[in-house]
This record gives sequence, structure tokens and C-alpha cells, in this order.
Amino acid sequence: MEHNTAAARDESRQPTAHDLEVLSRQLGRPVRDVVEIPARCVCGNPLVAATAPRLSNGTPFPTTFYLTHPVITSAVSRLEAAGVMNSMNEQLAGDAALAAAYRSAHEDYLAARRAIGQRSGIGPVPEIDGVSAGGMPTRVKCLHVLAGHSLAVGSGINPLGDRALEMISEWWTADKCYCDGAWDTTGEAPSRDLSRHGPQGLPGIVGRPAPVRKPAATAEAAE
Ligand SMILES: [Zn+2]
Repeated sequence: MEHNTAAARDESRQPTAHDLEVLSRQLGRPVRDVVEIPARCVCGNPLVAATAPRLSNGTPFPTTFYLTHPVITSAVSRLEAAGVMNSMNEQLAGDAALAAAYRSAHEDYLAARRAIGQRSGIGPVPEIDGVSAGGMPTRVKCLHVLAGHSLAVGSGINPLGDRALEMISEWWTADKCYCDGAWDTTGEAPSRDLSRHGPQGLPGIVGRPAPVRKPAATAEAAE
């Protein structure tokens, strides 16, 4: 299966005010520090948000790609609930070629984050050098992260993210729009301004614990 939404053209990466409102509605909370929209629905709505590798409050932030579309996030949650991560971890342990491809995906994730840091004017974030997300490079800890990576960079980069997207094809495929009714479009969107002083100074997009590998040196900063 192809998911060409990943090949977001440069001009469509830049989040518009409308994109940020849609993200807030998709997530049911305000978003901050979103610097790009790396994957879009065929209708143009965001599927994945890219968060700055360093937040506006200075915190290093390793989890760059975040799935935002409720249809996709809930479908991926079904995979997690069905134990797909366990079977993927077993496959990683027994398949050297898969393990190597997954390690390459980790490197791609780091490179993509560096590129986003450059494009957004943030530059290098040495505190999170070598730290990706989702359990990479050796484990699977969050399928949402892997699927978000695959959508953001296109198929053929993250083998387990690609597989997760294939496994949700019963509920979502890249060639169709599933936006209608997928989130509340009535009333006020969650306000971006109200999010500026969140409880932990983290962006509203981080609604659950960030699936981050935690070297001792950066764990505190990343949390
Ligand atoms: Zn759509």
C-alpha cells in the first residue's frame, strides 16, 4: 500500500492558522510549537504534526512526528490493544534484516528532525542527539510514533510504521478522506493562547507521556 500523503510538498509543510485550529480540534486541546505539517489527508487536513525539536520555552523535544488524525490514532490504538507491539518486538529479535532496517529508520528520524530544526530556524539540539522516539532503534514502544514517522517521510523508510499503516487499512487508507465527523467542528476551537502556560510547560500536543527513550542526561529535560 502506498501512502503518498507523506510526500507533502514544501509549500504545504508550513502550518496555516486553519491547520492549527484543525489540530486543536483533532486533539481536543491546544497545540503549540508545531512547526510543520508533514502529512495531510487527500482533503488537505493534517494527519501528522511536526513539533519543534526545541520548544519555545527552551526544552529539548525528541518526539518530532505526532499522529493527530483521530481515525488513524484510534485505529493504531486498536493494533496496540491487540498486542501488535509484542509480535513486532519478537520479530525484531529474530530477524536481523528487519532489525537493520529499523535501525536505519531511527537514523532517518534523527536526520528528519535535524532538517526540521534547520528549516524552522531552531538549529541543532545536542541534548537529544541520538534519541529518537517510539522505542527506536531496538524496540517498539509506541506504534503511533512509528506510523506517524511513516506518514511523514513516506513508505520504505520505517518498516514497522509501514506495517502498522498496512494493518489499519480496514479503517484508514491514504487515498480517501475520513475527516467528516471525525472531530468536533462546532463552537470554539481550543484556544492556542490559553495553552501558553501549560502545567508542565509542554505543548498541548503532548497529551500523553511522550514515548521517548531516556538517557539519564536528557530524561529530565525531555519530560
Ligand atoms: Zn480529509
